Amino acid sequence: MESYVLKQVLSLLEKYHICNSCLGRQFGNLLSGLTNESRGMALKTVLLMEWENKSRLTSFEEPVLSSLLSKDYEIGLKSVQRYFPESTLNEAKCDICNDYLLPVKLEKLAIRAVDTAEELDFGTFLVGCIFPPSMLDKEDSIRSTFNLEYGESIKSEFNREVGKRIQARLPEILVDFKAPDVVFTFEVVEDRIEVKKNPLMILGRYKKLTRGIPQSKWHCRVCRGTGCERCNFTGKMYQESVEEFVSEPVLSAAEGASSKFHGSGREDIDALMLGTGRPFVLEISEPRKRSLDFQELASIINKNAEGKVEVEFEGITDRSKVRELKTRSSRNSKGYRATIEFDQPVDINNERIQVLESELTGKIINQRTPIRVAHRRADKIRSRKVQKFEVEKKEPKEWVVYIICEGGLYVKELISGDEGRTHPSLSELLQVNARVIALDVMEVFKSHNDLEYLDTNPSI
Ligand SMILES: [Zn+2]
Ligand SMILES: [Zn+2]
Repeated sequence: MESYVLKQVLSLLEKYHICNSCLGRQFGNLLSGLTNESRGMALKTVLLMEWENKSRLTSFEEPVLSSLLSKDYEIGLKSVQRYFPESTLNEAKCDICNDYLLPVKLEKLAIRAVDTAEELDFGTFLVGCIFPPSMLDKEDSIRSTFNLEYGESIKSEFNREVGKRIQARLPEILVDFKAPDVVFTFEVVEDRIEVKKNPLMILGRYKKLTRGIPQSKWHCRVCRGTGCERCNFTGKMYQESVEEFVSEPVLSAAEGASSKFHGSGREDIDALMLGTGRPFVLEISEPRKRSLDFQELASIINKNAEGKVEVEFEGITDRSKVRELKTRSSRNSKGYRATIEFDQPVDINNERIQVLESELTGKIINQRTPIRVAHRRADKIRSRKVQKFEVEKKEPKEWVVYIICEGGLYVKELISGDEGRTHPSLSELLQVNARVIALDVMEVFKSHNDLEYLDTNPSI
């Protein structure tokens, strides 16, 4: 049998001094369940056996002997010493990895990484590495010169081997390729380890029980956050916000660097957020602690913000949830309660009310960008559906109505008509000027299913 593998090994070792791992790695995609180190040792061992059988050690090519006496291969020394008692281990460095892949080195790096992360609370990790391009190029060029087609990359071997050694020391911590809590990046030659703490993403829902509180912290328009007379040197437009109430206790419990609040849309500053609350994701960057007691945190928040904001946490999530909240869910349906004031008394009977309700329920409303937001939004027409319109309470000059509509519908304009920019509108249908004097979000529907359900059941 002509040995493809041994022929390759021999020609490699004639030219280069190679450690066990780097030799094994050139054949890394042959056989699974072996480390490259043991592949390399096996290849060197077979070569030694061939050599002993053939030549009885009268001759042996000096260059090949170099790798067979490499300092990570003591079996070689013992065999060779039987014939050449003066032989010693070869202290030369590996021509490919410069000894950075020797198991003792990987072991040391893993210990350092574990020490560095000692204070950190994490459940999953991933290893990454940076090698100098010259080292990677060298291996590439050797592979093409010798036509080695089963090689693995030095980086993937490094990541796997160091990862295994970290995990051996932290058995309760798992490797996670998709969304690890912590990423160790080894700058191998520079001898640096960077520990990146990925953000902690927490899913929750909030209710806003008082008017006049914005969802997010607003910087003062005059000083942009540095503090001035206008903002009483707080740097803020409003002293309180949902974001601050929610994020401050969590940020301090997680010992994070900063936080971001991602709401699934937002209600107007003067609207309440009631019902089951509005979903949000709270992002804490560089958290030192991840196992937080969310129930405890919610009760701290709810006590601090009593009568103003109420939260409930649903647990830990990932970044994809933010995208979902920002895009898909922002179109999800919302339920509103609006108190409406009329310029003149509206005197219509229950029958006429029913007609009005059925006229608006299921209707597509076309809205040109409202005057009140025109300074910050592009002027365009948007179409959203009203899925339910119900008059709950009526007095001649004041009504309370319940509206379910697609996310993004401007409710205040659905009532006022916005000088004809929204069509149809309640003002238009009743031929009386109407405006919203109080608006509360009662429900943010959780999914598209809810939306579909409403679409096909306009009567509910
Ligand atoms: Zn090597
Ligand atoms: Zn200011």
